[in-house]
Amino acid sequence: PNPNPNPNPNPNPNPGAMAAAPPLYLGVDLGGTNCRAALVRDTGVIMHVLREGLDGREFGVVVAQIHRLAELVLAEKGLGWGHIRAIGIGGPGLCRNGTIVGAANFPSWHDVPLASAVRGRCGNRPTYLVNDADAAVEAEAWVGAAATHKLQHVVLISLGTGVGTGAIAGGRLLQGSRACIEGGHVLCEPGGRRCPCGQRGCAEAYSSARAIKERYGEKGGEVGVDAREIFRRAKEGEALAAETVQEAIEMIARMCINISRVLDPEAFVFSGGISGLGEPFLERIRARFQELRWTVLPDEQQFLLASVGADSGIIGAAGAARRAIAERRYLPCEVSDAALQTEDVSAEADANPDSKADPNPSPDPN
Ligand SMILES: [Zn+2]
Repeated sequence: PNPNPNPNPNPNPNPGAMAAAPPLYLGVDLGGTNCRAALVRDTGVIMHVLREGLDGREFGVVVAQIHRLAELVLAEKGLGWGHIRAIGIGGPGLCRNGTIVGAANFPSWHDVPLASAVRGRCGNRPTYLVNDADAAVEAEAWVGAAATHKLQHVVLISLGTGVGTGAIAGGRLLQGSRACIEGGHVLCEPGGRRCPCGQRGCAEAYSSARAIKERYGEKGGEVGVDAREIFRRAKEGEALAAETVQEAIEMIARMCINISRVLDPEAFVFSGGISGLGEPFLERIRARFQELRWTVLPDEQQFLLASVGADSGIIGAAGAARRAIAERRYLPCEVSDAALQTEDVSAEADANPDSKADPNPSPDPN
């Protein structure tokens, strides 16, 4: 236990000191069963990471654990809060203005102020909260597939238990008016299958791992078989499994058409468990997209696999915090506009004339 958990309460650190040391970000990935905290360099490389199972699901318990883990990850590198430029948290469920509005894995959480609670305990560093899909697309934009291809307009589609989306347009994370952009719930089959969200016929109702499992059973397949096994059976030629997989691909392709018409991305980047099926799976989506798409204009979207992998939550959360600080323009997920603008950003800008001078910062620092 640290007798002084807030060793650097001064919100306006010595500009000379800040300019001398490359900035570090603290990335936190809060999942349903575990929590990770990492020191992330300004290049998007993880310097040090720790992971623990959750001590509990009560809000106070989780905040205390994030604080303890963060102190530990700093201490193991001999660092303090003064070395951290900003904190990014990748959280579950609907994350808005630094609060978690609700999350399936934390049923007692309603409008819990996670960012401000963490900020209060963690050196009063600027703290940002984004949901896991937004963190994933930030990671791909910073050091992943979108960075490799130098893309500024990207939609990430996370194919897991649910279907999540994160969108970056013109190099900025899109969050909508309520941080509630959910591409997995575009209607692909009006009047169709009931989705956990309450609508009928969402893409997710056919193409999440859970939906694939359920659909296989509904079509008369063996009940309780998971999506991975259904894909395996489809590959071996089992008719019901093949039909179930084809249906999922159909709905993903329709979702991509709909998203293309609204957001016009340069690429779709696929992450999550199902995307582990790799290029052959992607090729089937791409092929069906080509059959469905309009012909009045070209569609040149790329279909890419995410490349950051299991660290995308922590890297992306840190990346979201970094982008918010560096660009001084995207603030929907941060805890306090006033605090950021009067304290931290002005201090950062004074200390870093280079970043201030660049009128069009690139999301790719390399
Ligand atoms: Zn839905």
